[in-house]
Amino acid sequence: MTIPKVALPPDVRLETLAVREGLPHTPWGENSEALFLTSSFVHPDAETAARRFAGEDEAFVYSRFGNPTVTMMERRLAALEGTGACIATSSGMSAILITILSLLRSGDHVVCSNGVFGSTIRLFQDFARFGIETSFVSQTDAAAWRAAMRPQTRLLFAETPSNPLTEVCDIAALAEIAHAGGALLLVDNCFCSPALQQPARLGADLVMHSGTKYLDGQGRVVAGAVCGPADLIETKFVPTMRSAGMSLSPFNAWVVLKGLETLSIRMQAQSARALELAHWLESRPAVERVHHPALPSHPQHSLAMRQQGGQGGAVVSFVVRAPDADAARRHAFSVIDATRICSITANLGDTKTTITHPASTSHGRLTEAQRQAAGVVQGLVRVAVGLEHVDDLKADLARGLDALATA
Ligand SMILES: *Cc1c(COP(=O)(O)O)cnc(C)c1O
Repeated sequence: MTIPKVALPPDVRLETLAVREGLPHTPWGENSEALFLTSSFVHPDAETAARRFAGEDEAFVYSRFGNPTVTMMERRLAALEGTGACIATSSGMSAILITILSLLRSGDHVVCSNGVFGSTIRLFQDFARFGIETSFVSQTDAAAWRAAMRPQTRLLFAETPSNPLTEVCDIAALAEIAHAGGALLLVDNCFCSPALQQPARLGADLVMHSGTKYLDGQGRVVAGAVCGPADLIETKFVPTMRSAGMSLSPFNAWVVLKGLETLSIRMQAQSARALELAHWLESRPAVERVHHPALPSHPQHSLAMRQQGGQGGAVVSFVVRAPDADAARRHAFSVIDATRICSITANLGDTKTTITHPASTSHGRLTEAQRQAAGVVQGLVRVAVGLEHVDDLKADLARGLDALATA
């Protein structure tokens, strides 16, 4: 027995896959995907159970390593990313954890951008205790990645655009460097999602997600996933999942599964609002600098537009003008505190716009030197644009910015 596939015409597009890929209906014919809240699955007889446990029959056995709702989410996300398979994890961080546990061993070396998510940096640093060393290099300088390669390098890890500066790295160039050195390239595709950017089509071997962000898209659950070639996921990742169990709960998988249905229209709409807000921010006297990939002033603007389907994404960050770092922090706090609509939270990828001060939140655990290397200055404010009316968001930010400009 094998687990059946949905009968879709070949070459249907991303928007169609996002609502149709998964598993066939059950005999009840439900139109909305079923939520299988069950820890285990029953077998017709002992002989069949033995075959299923041995992996000779493909069937659901135990939800730590297989559940129909989770499988639907995995198949749908793999289809959107254009990879052969996907494995869902309990969080974005556990997606990185399962990658390290599945692919690396003591003595191996990793090259990682210094602009990646703060906890990602911490996790790679923690693995130095187990003999896996990581070199952190510039997000945007491909030559620095090449120079950091060693004979022991097994994995290159990139996140693009980066948080919170939206710096863009060249996925195809990094894939070439990785493959020339016999290593794999993993891209954290959290900020663009497959609706805007499909790293595997540009040569990345693995694509990971924090499903917590745009995939759910409504700030409800913590979830993660790794997408990649079917043989790699099945032979390396599934055994780790089976023994280590960083599994996604079926309920959270169902929430993400339904979130994927609206991913494309949300990303287009939020990305367009973010660009409009970015242009407006550039015109504010209290703003020194605005970061958004779709602005012509963005240092990797043309690369970003090629790589991200002509869209900048929904995250925009800006630096408030100030004479020194202390004042910059005060000014950033006052802009954040003057908002009445934006949610003050470090989360992103929600329909509700969120605003945060990265230097004291998401990047607060880093040393000042690491923050400087990542460009996270005290005057920086990050806005992850949701689905509110953009004029209301402008008014929300104008309150604090105008007060600074006239102070
Ligand atoms: C949030 C985030 C993560 C971690 O995901 P969790 O679901 O919070 O564990 C990893 N990478 C990026 C880019 C993120 O924004």
